Amino acid sequence: MLPILMTLATPKPWTLVAGGDIMFYGIGAKTAPLNEIASTFRRADIAYANLEIPITSAQTPTRRKTAEEIKAKHQFILKADPGHIANLKGTFDLLSLANNHAMDYGVKGLNETKALLDKAGIQHSGAGSNVAEAIRPTIKTLPNGIRVGMISYLAFMSTGGLWKCTPATSKTPGLAGLDLGANPKHERVKAIVKAAKKNCDFLIVALHWGIERQNKPTKYQIDLGRNFINSGADVVLGAHPHRLQGREIYKGKPILYSMGNLISPLPAASAIYTLRFDGTKFSSWDIRPMRNAGGKAKWYSTKDEPAIKRQILALDKLIR
Ligand SMILES: [Zn+2]
Repeated sequence: MLPILMTLATPKPWTLVAGGDIMFYGIGAKTAPLNEIASTFRRADIAYANLEIPITSAQTPTRRKTAEEIKAKHQFILKADPGHIANLKGTFDLLSLANNHAMDYGVKGLNETKALLDKAGIQHSGAGSNVAEAIRPTIKTLPNGIRVGMISYLAFMSTGGLWKCTPATSKTPGLAGLDLGANPKHERVKAIVKAAKKNCDFLIVALHWGIERQNKPTKYQIDLGRNFINSGADVVLGAHPHRLQGREIYKGKPILYSMGNLISPLPAASAIYTLRFDGTKFSSWDIRPMRNAGGKAKWYSTKDEPAIKRQILALDKLIR
């Protein structure tokens, strides 16, 4: 009797290490910009980040972002040298593609990016050759048998804002766009989660949302994140503001509103998040501050780190 009970009670601990936006724009592929921090991701059972740039040699930018918008810096069109795949390979397991830059170099840019990731053995979700493919979860089975699925959505509030970023349709390629008619408590979220959980035991939902350069999540983000948890998601990983936003444990499940920039040419403070689970149950989390400087991701000195960490943890209090 006892050995069976012990088997059932044995926890299956695993870790998810998550980072923010990967923006290789203006950073040389051979500069190894992630080297200093990469081992933290490599040690994880699942290493996640948001790939906020197509890695492609495609030459024709999207026409949905107009010359006037680019000139006024209301929109940006980005791409990175395909050689950057070497900076991702072996470090990340899951990348989200549902963001406002994945389609900056059109279908060609998306397809080249996906082909490079596939060849490097990096799973991705949030973009595809049609909407069915874009919303399909990518599933990774851990050595302990737990099937971890991930779906990713660009969750901008406005239909026009989504359109600019080329959401996939039933017939055309693009990213997974979540148009809820500005209603974050929409019933549709339930159906999305139910469908995604059919083939996995644990579901990561990566959402691209919020307002740039804001440390406080919007009411829309908070209501939408909680809607996903209420609908059965196990963790929500947020991105887009290019700033850190707080975290909360909602009904026992973690929501991280924005994880800032993992790599960017702009100098800024950021963080890497470690989440621990026992089976499908969240157990604990921690953050380690990091920064971008000179186009590289770096740790803080042991002297500076505690004060920065306190500032980052204080952001949790802004969630309401
Ligand atoms: Zn973004």
